[in-house]
Amino acid sequence: GSSAPILDVANIEVIYDHVILVLKGVSLTVQQGGIVALLGANGAGKTTTLKAISNLLRAERGDVTKGAILFDGEEVQALSPNALVTRGCIQVMEGRHCFGHLTVEENLLTGAFTRHDGWGAVKADLEKVYDYFPRLRERRSSQAGYTSGGEQQMCAIGRALMSRPKMILLDEPSMGLAPQLVEQIFEIVKEINAKEGVSILLAEQNTNVALRYATYGYILESGRVVMDGDADALRQNEDVKEFYLGVA
Ligand code: ATP
Repeated sequence: GSSAPILDVANIEVIYDHVILVLKGVSLTVQQGGIVALLGANGAGKTTTLKAISNLLRAERGDVTKGAILFDGEEVQALSPNALVTRGCIQVMEGRHCFGHLTVEENLLTGAFTRHDGWGAVKADLEKVYDYFPRLRERRSSQAGYTSGGEQQMCAIGRALMSRPKMILLDEPSMGLAPQLVEQIFEIVKEINAKEGVSILLAEQNTNVALRYATYGYILESGRVVMDGDADALRQNEDVKEFYLGVA
């Protein structure tokens, strides 16, 4: 479209621990309302890219990020992760990261920590999350640590939604889940994207699923973007088929 992108990442480099150059100039764009897939093998730099955007790398330990990151028209590199959440960009980390000793509902409520619009609005959004994830409504009083992997992934996405984001950075939502459950979660993510207008940047090793739900994709190899294009075009590409979709 003609509107400004919600996220514009230009030429970022990430150095871990002063010495290890992991991202070697990654650029990517997410249009308002888009679902963009960040693809690549284990270790290609997907998680690092998301963390660089969310500012979750650790400067005090010697991690360095160079380049420019514009979110919603604003240069965000100097912002803390929480300040970025307040502006509408939130990351759902790989491995779900629910608070195991809290109930599902308590976990969801922690997602509203940056808001100041009152209990009524938070309660309404809690119901909305339960409408997207009926399973979470059933499990609302269960300790999150005792719920299934799929429920914990739903809980992590639901908690992100509670911050009223404009954009969610979603790291490897398919990890460790049965194919049917993966499909179910992607369907809900797509529905959230369509109904709430939340833009999605999705890091996935499951290229097949990611390209069926995304509108656009970037393929990372060793910290560089080696290919990008419309999701349909990538799915038809011979190299993508051979190396990432497992069909030759
Ligand atoms: P995964 O699917 O495992 O998350 P990925 O594509 O997301 O893979 P990253 O996690 O971004 O890849 O890792 C990219 C490279 O950076 C890897 O070689 C990894 O070993 C290295 N790396 C990741 N975290 C650190 C760290 N804290 N310190 C040093 N090197 C790191």
